[in-house]
Amino acid sequence: MNHETAIQCPSCRAAEVNQFTGSYHAGCENCSARMLANSPQAWNAIHKGQAAQLQEAIRKTWGDEYNVGRQMVWEWIQKLTAARAAKGI
Ligand SMILES: [Zn+2]
Repeated sequence: MNHETAIQCPSCRAAEVNQFTGSYHAGCENCSARMLANSPQAWNAIHKGQAAQLQEAIRKTWGDEYNVGRQMVWEWIQKLTAARAAKGI
């Protein structure tokens, strides 16, 4: 996993303005976290309590750094949830 910071990543900068941008930068872990937070796996984890697929996706992406990935994905889930609430969607 490339530890590129959000500041260096054009897709992360786009996401600061529009959390729902479909722009993801390959190799950027913050983008990976955002993509997973937006995924059907995350939806199942949040709405159905079925977290196994999301955990598997995080494990595939972050490997030994699972807890780092889990934290990042969770932060994006909260950001996206707040942004949806603000937009009424
Ligand atoms: Zn990024």
